[in-house]
Amino acid sequence: MSWVKKSQEEIRSQIFYALSKNVNYQKESIIGVPGSFLDEKVFHPDKFILGEAPFLSTLLQNPNHIGCHTLGESESFFAGTQEIERDVIDICAKDILKGGSDDFDGYVASGGTEANIQAFWIYRNYFVREKGAELDEISILCSADCHYSMPKGANLLSIGIQYVAVDFETRSISKERIHDAVQEAKNNGKKYFIVVSNMMTTMFGSVDDVDLYANILTTDNLNFKIHIDGAYGGFYYPFSNEESKLNFSNPWVNSVTLDAHKMAQAPYGTGIFIIRKGYMQYATTQEASYVEGEDCTLIGSRSGANAIAIWMILSTYGPNGWYEKILVLQKRTEKVCKHLDELGVEYYRNLHSNIITMKSNFISEEIAHKYGLVPDNHHQPNWYKIVVMEHVTMEKLNPFLEDLKNSILVNQLN
Ligand SMILES: *Cc1c(COP(=O)(O)O)cnc(C)c1O
Repeated sequence: MSWVKKSQEEIRSQIFYALSKNVNYQKESIIGVPGSFLDEKVFHPDKFILGEAPFLSTLLQNPNHIGCHTLGESESFFAGTQEIERDVIDICAKDILKGGSDDFDGYVASGGTEANIQAFWIYRNYFVREKGAELDEISILCSADCHYSMPKGANLLSIGIQYVAVDFETRSISKERIHDAVQEAKNNGKKYFIVVSNMMTTMFGSVDDVDLYANILTTDNLNFKIHIDGAYGGFYYPFSNEESKLNFSNPWVNSVTLDAHKMAQAPYGTGIFIIRKGYMQYATTQEASYVEGEDCTLIGSRSGANAIAIWMILSTYGPNGWYEKILVLQKRTEKVCKHLDELGVEYYRNLHSNIITMKSNFISEEIAHKYGLVPDNHHQPNWYKIVVMEHVTMEKLNPFLEDLKNSILVNQLN
């Protein structure tokens, strides 16, 4: 168990210790790196404030976490904070995603989009190099409710994408629907599949049954790898559903995306990519010869402060504190659903999720606008969603429910 709750004092001293092991541009003679502390004329290092603020101090010292730091050799300039990033990957892979004694690689990416594309990139190269696949024989296989980073990645990497239809009411895939999608892809010459299984979709919070994919594709004797998109759900679902199969205790799951800038309230730039050992190398760019340890990430230069932010959040709560935080959001979501049931409003909600997606015919445009509800489609909404985040308290939800009730009453009178 590497995830433990720490006091603010422990967090502070550990981060400042890590920073002390990084290069100090001010005190040392480092003259070959196109990097420095943040511009002091603009970002003034006020000792009195910074002495208390490890994240801001890290921002000012501006460590570059270029490359992947779980593979052994890395840029020595920033060894201190890279160590913290390794700890983040370890906590996510082992403690949150039940990786047990297995070994993993990973890094803090710019976001869920990059982490998903990193997975596709690795598997595409894996199928080409190990199986002799042609690009037009490789396809992403994912549900119709997937995030748009899937078609974006398919387009970038010149591979196909095949959608599995979902049921309109339950948003779920089924054996038959996967079978149909695979059949269609095979008819189009696809032989190698990069499966993306959702751990909470962006619009519905719906979750795919990952074993359905694995069973059908193995029965069919097809080559495939399974990636989990937990960009939204990665810091939620493992806590709201302890029976979850979308983790590394499931041997089919090969890699996972999590986004700390969604439910974990970290600053943007905190996507997390985690993959079982032995795969990261398929994305190595050997030409990255000026980077110590070479580079097998999509991004290039990236801020080490992002890893620090994630680590500080996780260490502040600890596993029990995090579980309780999610439990509160679950309870609040249940309460809202009960109100909607009483009003006869139809909606979709996965039992383990904090997203409530209401059918648009119950929601007036006025209410949608007033409460910042997000539609599935801005031109012609079928659905509007509520995301019960920390700031979405009953104080904010009650006036919405009251307005909704009144608009429904008015509708019934007309
Ligand atoms: C937000 C999200 C993404 C993309 O993440 P970014 O951090 O915006 O790049 C991918 N998948 C899901 C399910 C998401 O909710």
